[in-house]
Amino acid sequence: MTAGTDPGRQDVLAMTDDRRLALESNLAVVRERIEAACAAARRPVAEVTLIAVTKFFPSADAVTLAELGVADLGESRDQEASTKAADFAELTTVPVRWHFVGRLQSNKARSVVRYADFVHSVDRPGLVSALATAVSRREAATGKGALGVLVQVSLDGDTARGGALPDDVVALADQVAASPGLVVRGVMAVAPIGADPDEAFERLAQVSAQLRVQHPGADMVSAGMSGDLEAAVRHGATHLRIGTALLGARPVTFG
Ligand SMILES: *Cc1c(COP(=O)(O)O)cnc(C)c1O
Repeated sequence: MTAGTDPGRQDVLAMTDDRRLALESNLAVVRERIEAACAAARRPVAEVTLIAVTKFFPSADAVTLAELGVADLGESRDQEASTKAADFAELTTVPVRWHFVGRLQSNKARSVVRYADFVHSVDRPGLVSALATAVSRREAATGKGALGVLVQVSLDGDTARGGALPDDVVALADQVAASPGLVVRGVMAVAPIGADPDEAFERLAQVSAQLRVQHPGADMVSAGMSGDLEAAVRHGATHLRIGTALLGARPVTFG
């Protein structure tokens, strides 16, 4: 039985007109914020990609956002993401790229590479190895190409919250580049709680510049969430990960 016909799943797949209108209007507001931030930073809007982080929200929301023109979807929990990507494939043929942005345990690598096009949260050698192995064993039926890897950078040195130390970024990127099936694409960071986002993202821009000396193609800078996208755009973000401003408040917030 497919997700689309299982009556027990209709609740997560149904889309009301009200919800569609809310998502459409939130998206317009976010797009305006991005345009204004790009104008202020004298950057072309085309340099900045909006990733809609739909974690905690139903598959139908992801489909609606894709139909409204959002070509990049983000998720932070493997189980939810894997279900959502499967639902999505049944509900629409609109092409999207899936970005995994949350903390990732190595034992989830096999699952993640089945649907993800990018993993933004790579921060340790063991995870690079796990992803490389997973990609090499991935079924051809997924139709996926090389996995885009971003090295997550810890901007406050508290690596317990995820992210590699800035000094370790190039070595991790070297390991990614040496792994068949993985491509090093850039850096990702979350501004530390309580920190000045401008300072945080300026630091990330320095780390990105250092990385690009060795890996010129690693030009993605994944930074900026609902509350700090303007600061991220000021400091060169190419990918914004936006949840709340598009979808509303999550029931609980973690990962
Ligand atoms: C949830 C999440 C986001 C989106 O955050 P909002 O503040 O809701 O926009 C971005 N990045 C990561 C890593 C997340 O887990």
